[in-house]
Amino acid sequence: MIYYIGLGSNLGEREKILRRAIESIKKISGVKILRVSSFYETEPWGVINQPNFINAAIKISSKREPLNILDELQRIELDFGRIRREHWGARTLDLDILFIEGQKISSEQLIVPHKFLFDRDFALIPLAEIFPTLKFQLHGDKISRVAGSPIDFNLKFVACVDKNFGIAKNNDLLFKIPADLKNFRQLTLNHTIIFGRKTLSTFPNQKPLDNRRNIILSRTLQKISGAEVVNSVENLFETLNIAEKNFVIGGEQIFNELIPYATEIFLSVVNKITQADKFFPNIDDFSLIDVKNFDDFEFRSYKHEKNF
Ligand code: ATP
Ligand code: MG
Ligand code: MG
Repeated sequence: MIYYIGLGSNLGEREKILRRAIESIKKISGVKILRVSSFYETEPWGVINQPNFINAAIKISSKREPLNILDELQRIELDFGRIRREHWGARTLDLDILFIEGQKISSEQLIVPHKFLFDRDFALIPLAEIFPTLKFQLHGDKISRVAGSPIDFNLKFVACVDKNFGIAKNNDLLFKIPADLKNFRQLTLNHTIIFGRKTLSTFPNQKPLDNRRNIILSRTLQKISGAEVVNSVENLFETLNIAEKNFVIGGEQIFNELIPYATEIFLSVVNKITQADKFFPNIDDFSLIDVKNFDDFEFRSYKHEKNF
């Protein structure tokens, strides 16, 4: 099932709370985050003498039942210190199920679509970004896009893949094609590269790459000279610079964790089938915008459509 969840916070470090909440939702077993909207600053609705909110929406897929997802979302609200004092009052985190594709629910605990969805610009605007076919009318509420969503880091993915989107075998790259390595260097030089522990071990001498900011996302590594180590996606976003070009370069697990936040993809596609045991994630939501032909491979650029 495809769920759309609305997120809101108007107490504490609101953007950070939403980013952390997204990571908590990602950790619910059997839940996959597909896409995240921008963040919006919105004026309170209903009970107006309270601070402004940051609102966002995310798209997830799960086989779990709606009531079960609602339970998990409420557990996460409590983990973030939500106290229900007053209905529609200030809160560190509100997670509502806005919409479920192909489902209508009307029970005591759960109403889907959310009963005020079509009355609330603060829910509709972020939702529309990730749900292009939604039909709705806005009400002219004051809402402004603000920085802070994981998609604002404009993560650019780079990989060299075989015909089946394989990327590695036995923890090593499938291909070492000079023209591709040269492209990779040109693309990433003087920018930030983000990768995992196993990718580090594929580099020459297992050392960070020169003339780039190297960030290793790893739960086990401690210190590596010439690189910064972050141990969670939340910490990665605290460390990254929005103005920088941030390239995600592998491996499979890092690609899977960060693909919902990718905005550009550069793939060198080699016209061969290998015995790969690691693969690039599904990119059906991306549009192919350019192809350059090289002797041994095709260099493809993709972008994620911004819907709103
Ligand atoms: P609103 O629902 O108007 O946005 P709220 O989010 O502040 O207000 P909560 O205190 O978070 O309200 O939730 C109150 C109850 O609403 C929850 O205990 C839940 O059972 C019920 N509920 C009904 N439909 C939904 C839904 N689609 N998403 C989340 N909660 C829902
Ligand atoms: Mg709500
Ligand atoms: Mg709620």
